[in-house]
Amino acid sequence: MNAYPHLLAPLDLGHVTLPNRVVMGSMHTGLEDRARDFPKLAAFFAERARGGASLIITGGFAPNIEGTLLPLASKLTTRREARQHRVLTEAVHAEGGRIALQLLHAGRYSYTPWCVAPSAVKSPISKFRPRALSARGVERTISAFVRSARLAREAGYDGVEVMGSEGYLINQFLAPRTNQRTDAWGGTPEKRRRFAVEIVRRIREEVGEDFLVIYRISAVDLVPDGQTWDEVAALAREVEAAGASVLNLGIGWHEARVPTIVTSVPRAAFASYAGRLKSETSLPVIATNRINMPEVAEGILGAGDADLVSLARPFLADPEWVRKAAESRVDEINTCIACNQACLDHTFRKQRATCLLNPRAVHETELVLGPTRAAKRVAVVGAGPAGLACATALAERGHTVDLFEGRDDIGGQFAIAQRIPGKEEFSESIRYFRRRLEVTGVRVHLGRVVGADELRGGGFDEVVVATGVEPRVPSIPGVDHPSVMTYAELVRGERTPGARVAVVGAGGIGVDVSEYLTAQPSATLDLDLWRAEWGVGDPAASRGGLAAPVVEAPKHEVVLLQRKASGIGKGLGKTTGWVHRASLRAKGVEQVTGVSYDRIDDDGLHVSFAPEDGSDGPRTSRVIAVDSIVLCAGQESVRTLADELGDSGIPVHLIGGADVAAEVDAKRAIRQGTELAARL
Ligand code: NAP
Ligand code: SF4
Repeated sequence: MNAYPHLLAPLDLGHVTLPNRVVMGSMHTGLEDRARDFPKLAAFFAERARGGASLIITGGFAPNIEGTLLPLASKLTTRREARQHRVLTEAVHAEGGRIALQLLHAGRYSYTPWCVAPSAVKSPISKFRPRALSARGVERTISAFVRSARLAREAGYDGVEVMGSEGYLINQFLAPRTNQRTDAWGGTPEKRRRFAVEIVRRIREEVGEDFLVIYRISAVDLVPDGQTWDEVAALAREVEAAGASVLNLGIGWHEARVPTIVTSVPRAAFASYAGRLKSETSLPVIATNRINMPEVAEGILGAGDADLVSLARPFLADPEWVRKAAESRVDEINTCIACNQACLDHTFRKQRATCLLNPRAVHETELVLGPTRAAKRVAVVGAGPAGLACATALAERGHTVDLFEGRDDIGGQFAIAQRIPGKEEFSESIRYFRRRLEVTGVRVHLGRVVGADELRGGGFDEVVVATGVEPRVPSIPGVDHPSVMTYAELVRGERTPGARVAVVGAGGIGVDVSEYLTAQPSATLDLDLWRAEWGVGDPAASRGGLAAPVVEAPKHEVVLLQRKASGIGKGLGKTTGWVHRASLRAKGVEQVTGVSYDRIDDDGLHVSFAPEDGSDGPRTSRVIAVDSIVLCAGQESVRTLADELGDSGIPVHLIGGADVAAEVDAKRAIRQGTELAARL
């Protein structure tokens, strides 16, 4: 018997039976806004349908112009647009899949000057103050939802998802935080719910019985003056009575100051809300957020907390997630590590989404790894992210690949990252690549520092140098003092820090190291501690489900320094940086900016500051009395091998950190390695 009997069981939804319990949740890819991109979007969906997703939900499409996320962003308002969607629905149906269109009215989250909301209450994450909808405007908006649902049906969709969570328009009607109306659409919980319930009721009347109407319900708003649990439960019952087929969970508004999907959120952290909702209605319930491996999903379904699970980003990382679970190939799953670096961070920068671990995601028609017609012998040197991606993709294409690694294990910078509290998911990437090396037949040589002569005499047609980076040691007088260590020595456990630590450099790694130093060992992935730290309470006890945060005392006292005068952590990802900054504040990390490093001695780290008025006046000095100093001052490329091979006559390719250390970043490394493999 398969290890995932609940996950792989079919689900009868009346007019349609889903073959398994895995829904691909809605994600904005950046290909929704222009119909000319739909063939690429169709290829993206088709690959996921082929890989076993039982139901795909598209990114959000607005029911009218006021509801778009940005000017000219995706909407479904005309029959012409509906015809353009046919390429999407037909591609999924050709693979035997099902697809529902998400109807999303952004309300005050619309980044347009014409945005609307129940009341004229500005959102903290948008510069535009919304206009309050008139009573006629409310009616027109409901009609727009109904029209879009009808058009979705005409376009061949199997259903719609009505986006009622994450702080978008419908959610704005539901919460006193944003609904201050006193007419028929606000003033009491019943009237605040009326907008959501009417949308579902009228859509159901319009589309008939044989069409899925999924309602995305905000199980916990995680904002002050959000909904109470009683209000959420009443809404669930009312949308059921209005004709919804399924409830999908939404967690937290976009403006919430509680992380809900980043990698430091424990797996399945919000699944218990699905269980609570199940006891309130007889509708099938979909659990969501931080469900990235089959055993996590099976645990939720087996415990009876949900009928289905929704995975969004994990389908970017691996289109064959379901098929691999069904074929007992779970160790081959490319696990989403919830980093957001190439998906949500791209979306916020208005770039096309992809995946740090799978650069083919949303580029299926452009980055093609077909079989080679001229198999070569290729040496890849370095088993960090760039080398691993390149070696496995080359072998998959039919080349004969030898991978050389000087250390006694694979992983490179990932091996360091997995030791940071809240970044444990990186160990899944190492597991994935370890298995992928076996499956693709790469010959792996660990603990083998290979030289130019050996490669020259090895009969290789091509050499890929992916030798990575080493930590930069800045030229501060006294940097060889025994209190000084590199971040790599610290995190690998080769050096032990004292009680008070200075961290030199506040880029991604300096911030990670500060979290590593302040976290108590017990904090790692403990759901109760995580909830306490972020103030996640019970919506039955307080509106929005917020509680007063309780933070454990930091393990080490940390001072984090940088030379720039700008705020610390500005260069971190849009969707993750605020979580790191909040965490540093909560752990009492002292942040010192605008420093010059003068020297290091037995008293600690001596720094000085230019006068605040920018004049040439005398500098202020300070001794930061610490027991240990950790260098997180960026990296230098390791490329001696490439230099030595320079005139050997063998084509040499430099990738990853060995190519550009300043940007040492796994997204670029994996993409560069994969693209090279596609070309060779
Ligand atoms: P980084 O982001 O380039 O930061 C290095 C820091 O060291 C800078 O903040 C710089 O700040 C300081 N520095 C540079 N040269 C120095 C010198 N000679 N002396 C003293 N300080 C110096 O590099 P990183 O922190 O090593 O991170 C590398 C990459 O890993 C990042 O680009 C990121 O893509 C990735 N990463 C991201 C995250 C994340 O987003 N959470 C976490 C880990 C890694 P000042 O010059 O102002 O002092
Ligand atoms: Fe997951 Fe990161 Fe890939 Fe996004 S970029 S899908 S979060 S692994």
